[in-house]
Amino acid sequence: MFSFIRPPLLGYLLAALASMTMLGCTENAKDPWEGATGQKIMVSFPPLHSFVTNVAGEHATVKVLLDNTGVHDYQPSPRDASKLHKADIFFYNGLELDDTFAVALLKNSANPRLKERTYAVGKCIPADRLLKMAEHEHVHDEKGGHGAGCNHKHGEFDPHIWLGIPEAILMVEFIRDRLKENDPSHAADYDLNAKNYIAKLKQLHADGLAKFKGKENKKFVPSHESLSYFARCFEVEAMKPLQRLPGEDPSSARLQEIVKRCKDEGVRVIAVEPNQMTNSTAKVLLNELKNKGVADPQIVEIDVLENAAQDDLKPDYYERKLAENLDKLSQVLK
Ligand SMILES: [Zn+2]
Repeated sequence: MFSFIRPPLLGYLLAALASMTMLGCTENAKDPWEGATGQKIMVSFPPLHSFVTNVAGEHATVKVLLDNTGVHDYQPSPRDASKLHKADIFFYNGLELDDTFAVALLKNSANPRLKERTYAVGKCIPADRLLKMAEHEHVHDEKGGHGAGCNHKHGEFDPHIWLGIPEAILMVEFIRDRLKENDPSHAADYDLNAKNYIAKLKQLHADGLAKFKGKENKKFVPSHESLSYFARCFEVEAMKPLQRLPGEDPSSARLQEIVKRCKDEGVRVIAVEPNQMTNSTAKVLLNELKNKGVADPQIVEIDVLENAAQDDLKPDYYERKLAENLDKLSQVLK
């Protein structure tokens, strides 16, 4: 389901991007910003769409590059480079989640002034709040480098910062400050919008903590290594994930190791992502847990917000999805 940008393919795509006339400039291409009002802001993936939409309010039109395609699976296209052609501001996550395609698209956008107004939002998270990728080190320890199944560039730090509320708030503040710099005439509105949105996020944090407070066992097995900030924020515990890399089925040795830890520590909950519901590995683990006598094992769907249907991207998308995750997880943890 997932694939990573392989260097030769990326080279090909970049060559294709460079050699063609920008779609946004051709006579027949539809202007992707038609009808846009205010600042034209492009973001890389869904959580940033929520953050920017809430802070910008009526002063911007916000578009997202990725909707149904997961962020670990996306390949840059000339069509998407053309969407940046008339953009005023571009926000991406950074921390090596989306840097490769963001930089490639920016380079091919034929929009030189956008370079000064392109921001890796993850840079706002102080080093002491960033979590290291456990699986990243594991891969290197085992193979001493990038193996055949591992064609993407790893980051040292876990990039899934949007799933922790304190980190999300830092991202919102960073976005607010960039909007104020670029459009100082509406600075007071950006301040007020950010203040109101941050208050909602703080409430969501408090509500989530309350849901897990009385639980005796707060451990669960995630699909891929994506829920560490979420777990820190809501005081639950994400175990070793099923997948060593996003989309990679576990080896039988890995699966058995996870089964053993679950049995030893009484872990009953397996979190799957919505786009992976057909993935049978979680069901295999569920059956293994049943066979090993773990009482009442459960699969729960947790959306890590890496992809979303375009029509689901309403301003409340982020807090709505996160609240749904908190509800579902608290219903299955005991
Ligand atoms: Zn991820």
